[in-house]
Amino acid sequence: MNKWIFSTLSLMLAPFLTGSESDHPAPFEYLRQLQKAELHLHLGGAYPLEYLLSIATPQQGEKLKTALDLIAKRVAYRDVFPFFQLVSQIIDSEEKVQKGTKALCLALQEDCVGYVEIRTSLKNLGNGYEAYLNAVLNGIKEATSPDFQANLLLSLQRNSNPEIAKITVDLALKHLSSGVIGIDISGDSCVSQIEHIMPELLRAKEGGLAILLHIGESPDEIDQVSLIENMTQNRIGHGVQMTDDARKWIQLHRVPLEVCLTSSVLVEMIDQPNEHPGIQYFRQ
Ligand SMILES: [Zn+2]
Repeated sequence: MNKWIFSTLSLMLAPFLTGSESDHPAPFEYLRQLQKAELHLHLGGAYPLEYLLSIATPQQGEKLKTALDLIAKRVAYRDVFPFFQLVSQIIDSEEKVQKGTKALCLALQEDCVGYVEIRTSLKNLGNGYEAYLNAVLNGIKEATSPDFQANLLLSLQRNSNPEIAKITVDLALKHLSSGVIGIDISGDSCVSQIEHIMPELLRAKEGGLAILLHIGESPDEIDQVSLIENMTQNRIGHGVQMTDDARKWIQLHRVPLEVCLTSSVLVEMIDQPNEHPGIQYFRQ
């Protein structure tokens, strides 16, 4: 592991590894100035708030602020998804997508993020799915600098219909050399399994796309082990609420986890950051 990543991780996790937060206050400004990679970022949840408020109607802006206040007080995992619709109502054209993506990339650069993977599901805002994809790619291009690189993951949900899955995989493969690197499976992890889109996911995999899987977000998920086995050894998003078998599988195959202690607490996956299984994996 790269030395600076390891030392940063150790520093950030120290309070949780030792069980004492107050002994090791995280030096925020020091961490902010370190070069970082951001590997789990949903475009719809990451547009800079300033940008959203600058284009929202006063009513939309108020609703958004109220929603953010609610989330800050903790919201059950399955109740979070409707909040994303507020953002979709504000970002309702390709032009806004492009400007918002650029604003996001510039904000990340200010936080010294040198590499980011942005996830988004394709949307038809009036000019087709590829127009949306091009808007995101153009927004990235406009913010590119020698110290910053961004790639894109196209998201499918477990209950995405096969037609959308086909369009998404087609476009991901078409843009494989221009910034799209994989398929992300996200959305409510309890709503269905993915057999109906499996042929498309396998086609994506064979075509050279990475498959990243959100799993372990809810104790109500089923067949975790077969899902991981079939779909991904690349990376797992969250991996908090895993069955014992799935945990063993992750450890045995050393599958990297994308961990966000803050979001796991805010959407009530865990009560305290030090209960996150990522801490246990790190110790081991
Ligand atoms: Zn996610």
